[in-house]
Amino acid sequence: MKILFTKIEQGWLTQVAQAASSLGLETYLVGGFVRDKLLNRPTKDADFVCVGDALMLAQKVAAGMTPRPTVSLFKTFGTAHIQLPGGWDLEFVGARRESYQSNSRKPQVEPGTIQDDQLRRDLTINALAISLNASNYGDLVDPFGGIADLEQKILRTPLPPDQTFADDPLRMMRTIRFATQLGFTIDENTWTGICQQAERIKIISQERITDELNKIILADKPSVGLDLLYRSGLMERIFPQLVALRGAEYRDGLGHKDNFYHTLQVLDNLSLNTNDLWLRWAAVLHDIAKPQTKRFEEGHGWTFHGHEVVGGRMVPKIFTQLKLPLNEHMRFVRKLVELHLRPISLTKENITDSAIRRLLFEAGDDIDSLMMLCEADITSKNKQKVNRYLSNFQLVRERCREVEEKDQIRNWQPPISGELIMQTFGLSPSKPVGIIKDSLKDAMLDGVIANTYEAAHAYMLEKGKELGLTPVSS
Ligand code: ATP
Ligand code: MG
Repeated sequence: MKILFTKIEQGWLTQVAQAASSLGLETYLVGGFVRDKLLNRPTKDADFVCVGDALMLAQKVAAGMTPRPTVSLFKTFGTAHIQLPGGWDLEFVGARRESYQSNSRKPQVEPGTIQDDQLRRDLTINALAISLNASNYGDLVDPFGGIADLEQKILRTPLPPDQTFADDPLRMMRTIRFATQLGFTIDENTWTGICQQAERIKIISQERITDELNKIILADKPSVGLDLLYRSGLMERIFPQLVALRGAEYRDGLGHKDNFYHTLQVLDNLSLNTNDLWLRWAAVLHDIAKPQTKRFEEGHGWTFHGHEVVGGRMVPKIFTQLKLPLNEHMRFVRKLVELHLRPISLTKENITDSAIRRLLFEAGDDIDSLMMLCEADITSKNKQKVNRYLSNFQLVRERCREVEEKDQIRNWQPPISGELIMQTFGLSPSKPVGIIKDSLKDAMLDGVIANTYEAAHAYMLEKGKELGLTPVSS
């Protein structure tokens, strides 16, 4: 395996090497950057480790560059950071070793050698270093067989796994995340270590956990990571609601599908078509309320009535629990969970324009995302059934297009405002105003009136009359 650095990379590597040499500091390029270059993955974050004062090194590096970049110093952590034009991030840190007292969670960190520093990294493939020192410039320093593991696509801890994971339990999630992103296999001992230490994940902050979870969800095939999280026992601790979907129950010979693996399949299907984290979260959560709504109906089988509504209500709670943002992204996920059965129900009946208008009205600009989720939700093993559904969906899509073209519902704004209703009938804000507004909306969605000002105005007058209101003369 050989690393080919670009001209730009060679430029700043030389500058770091020169600064290090003038300060007499032994310095290495380490970690993710080396790994990603060897794997030909795009990367712009480079980490440097020097044996000594990293703050001094970073300042010296910056001083040698024109134009001179700003250096951010984090004195308490002993790290420094330089951002270069083009999005390059150079991070400098002094080599450290950690020693853990068994009675304390916090490691004692003290200066160490490059070997010490490599040893405290999570995986052998993340512990590779490239020397920037004159005596062996460009050589790979690989004390734990990281290159062999890269070649064999194996994830393995440099120390005995129990120690690596006990020291920082987030490493368990990182290992599973890399297995998902890179398609690597977790070494057997390392896997056993994860299963044994899963309980310790509770000492890690929710933000760091969720960060890894999001990276898993954003991978090409997220099911790999979610299944590993489940099988290791980590999922139960970080996201028990998803584990509750696992399993199938049988009664009178009637079963239902395993909703955990169904959800994973939906997420994988969807991930072929979108990298949108929130749309992917909608897939993760679309059936989340199935355990709560599960009933057995005699002679009929299992039902999950209302799981979309209960599930929608669970979305803000789960977002709070996982420290995901409680903003428009959450509302988007909630809306998709609530609406996820609608398009499929439209394929079962005679699709009326009015049903299509209601769907367009409620989904608004998220209609395309909703349709994508619904298509991904078709996971039957029966190919014919899948194809039938997919072609029915095509029909729903076409009808949506037709109706939208005709009626412009997606961003529908009532052609008659509450203000105008009040003015017309000399009303103050009151119940009749709401009644008229709602009936206008329904009349338009049901196709009773056209989506125009004139039609709505006439309808408003008529509706007012029904309510015993008289227009005030203007
Ligand atoms: P990515 O950038 O895709 O998140 P990465 O491995 O590059 O993955 P960074 O957070 O950029 O992760 O960290 C850079 C390097 O620091 C890693 O390659 C690894 O050597 C080390 N590292 C990061 N986090 C940990 C950790 N929790 N325990 C041990 N080593 C770590
Ligand atoms: Mg990185």
